[in-house]
Amino acid sequence: MTVDRWHHFRENLLGWYRPERRPMPWKEHNDPYNIWLSEIILQQTRVEQGTAYYERFAATYPTVRDLARAPDDEVMKLWEGLGYYSRARNLLKAARMVVDQYDGDFPDTYVGLLKLPGVGPYTAAAIASFAFDRQVAVLDGNVYRVLSRYAGVATPTDSTAGKHQFSELATLALGEAPAARFNQAIMDFGALVCTPRKAACKVCPLAKACVALAENRVYDLPVKEKKLKRRDRHFHYLVIKDDSERTIIQQRSEKDIWQDLYQFPLLETPKKTLASADLPLHPDWPAWLPAGELTFRKRSQPFKQQLTHQTIYATFHTFHWKLMPGSGEGFVVTQNKLLDNFAFPRVIAKFIEDKRLLLDLF
Ligand code: SF4
Repeated sequence: MTVDRWHHFRENLLGWYRPERRPMPWKEHNDPYNIWLSEIILQQTRVEQGTAYYERFAATYPTVRDLARAPDDEVMKLWEGLGYYSRARNLLKAARMVVDQYDGDFPDTYVGLLKLPGVGPYTAAAIASFAFDRQVAVLDGNVYRVLSRYAGVATPTDSTAGKHQFSELATLALGEAPAARFNQAIMDFGALVCTPRKAACKVCPLAKACVALAENRVYDLPVKEKKLKRRDRHFHYLVIKDDSERTIIQQRSEKDIWQDLYQFPLLETPKKTLASADLPLHPDWPAWLPAGELTFRKRSQPFKQQLTHQTIYATFHTFHWKLMPGSGEGFVVTQNKLLDNFAFPRVIAKFIEDKRLLLDLF
């Protein structure tokens, strides 16, 4: 593709761009902390959902120092419902690193930013350009789509060759344009005009030189190499309550989804259904839980939660335990009304909420 076509791209894209088309609270900032916070929160999250979380985090922790000194559990609780909890853990790690190693100032280069936990190439480029005016081009899903269609490039975006090629194209497209404005423009353009399924080619200011449009390949691009594979997992939670409005929860410690979040004691099975009477026979039935002292009460319908690579089906089995002890090793006994102090995966939070609405349990 010739230099002229990229000139055309830049000029028309910047001519199209109006920041007010996609107003977002963090766009008003050029403070690296706010930009970093918003970028981490928005990874794999819809803007509508992410905005509320961003505002809550920015209000609770106005500076990186405030965030760095926050207790882990408090941050996880504030993150509850956003998913991908490793991002929350990295958020804290990075904030503490900025305070401890950089005296509270974010690194001001692309390479320096990449050293922060949870900051990959996209986030580093976004912060470097938005906060520090560095001449680096961002590459996210929107940008891949716009570039691959405009240039007619079918190299898979998730292949090594594709990453390399698109990074070159993005740099070519950016040229000498003001990076912050250009990066914001191309991402907004992908979100509003060159969208995955309803591209507005008829009114597109880039249409004249768009290869995909000329070759009728708009919806064939971009190409991905790997098809997303999903697996089903079947979780059976033991909801154990006593007469004093107490219940038992545990913190997840395994290297698995939802690490560090809380849950009811869990048994995982390869199949969807498991008779409640058979639960004590499960090899992972907790040794501290005397099955003979529990009275089975009821079983919920399966609750479903869709994650990127997994579909979770969660069934809640409720038991009564007359002589429930206090907290022990590996489990916490808590008052039901205090459950809100703990961060749960969304599927459990939903179960608790439903129960409350029915005035049934918690
Ligand atoms: S013409 Fe269509 S496919 Fe090409 S850049 Fe514009 S919106 Fe995207």
